[in-house]
Amino acid sequence: MLTGAHILLTYRCSFECDHCFVYSSPQARGTFTLDQLETVFEELVRIGTIERVYFEGGEAFLYYPLMVEGVRAARGKGFEVGIVTNSYWATTERDAELWLRPLCEMGIADLSLSDDPFHYEDEKENLARHALAAAERLGMPVGAISIEAPRVEDREQARGEPVIGGSTMFRGRAVERLLEGLPTRPWQDFTECPYEDLRDPARVHLDPYGNVHLCQGLCVGNMWQTPLSELIRGYDCASHPVCRPLAEGGPALLATEYGAEHSDEYVDACHFCYALRLALLDRFPEYLAPRQVYGL
Ligand code: SF4
Repeated sequence: MLTGAHILLTYRCSFECDHCFVYSSPQARGTFTLDQLETVFEELVRIGTIERVYFEGGEAFLYYPLMVEGVRAARGKGFEVGIVTNSYWATTERDAELWLRPLCEMGIADLSLSDDPFHYEDEKENLARHALAAAERLGMPVGAISIEAPRVEDREQARGEPVIGGSTMFRGRAVERLLEGLPTRPWQDFTECPYEDLRDPARVHLDPYGNVHLCQGLCVGNMWQTPLSELIRGYDCASHPVCRPLAEGGPALLATEYGAEHSDEYVDACHFCYALRLALLDRFPEYLAPRQVYGL
């Protein structure tokens, strides 16, 4: 049952991290308008099962007034609200309070701070610490998201395969930048999607171009063409040309069904899936979008 909607308020970001799923950067384009946000919230109410709305990106604080009004509108519709941020704005603890207080007054259920070496290589420049201290002083629910660079761990899975630690997902820019030196396995091994329940998704990501993502770049359709509530009501994994093979037999089945060219080995299922989707982009433009997420 769909209970969460994650709003990619903008693809633009103050950083350009190696592990970013959606290829965000200071040059990236695409930001919601307030009218679009209000339309989304009305549609989320129509769906009837949504409990929580997240604001993320890109970096949502880059469009601070829009984000604040978006949070107000979402709270006005009765949704719990979470925000994900890289804390670029938290120049000091005292100044961070200025940014957080209006949000705190509206009642935020979760503030998630990206706090890892991808965002802050030098601990002395780590602004997430200021945001954390300010949020705690204001009594906001706050936590850190920490993703480390991938590494081969000194232990093996049951079948003798190496374990890759660090929790990086091999999608988006991570595929371009973080694969070097990692062990690979034969493509036939990847017979399931390990992270998303494509038959019964619990959350979707919504972007300013109207794309409704089940996984970054894998979409149900476009909510600027078909109202979001109709898209969700009409979604059937069994008739989706990309989700069905992924749900039935993982990236291996997706590759065989469409005869897509691929390598012999991949680091993990997401690496294989992402590479296949990139190859199938022009065949399923309605479902594999936007090109931004594929670095194009
Ligand atoms: S296998 Fe594909 S659809 Fe599943 S989580 Fe990985 S990238 Fe997403």
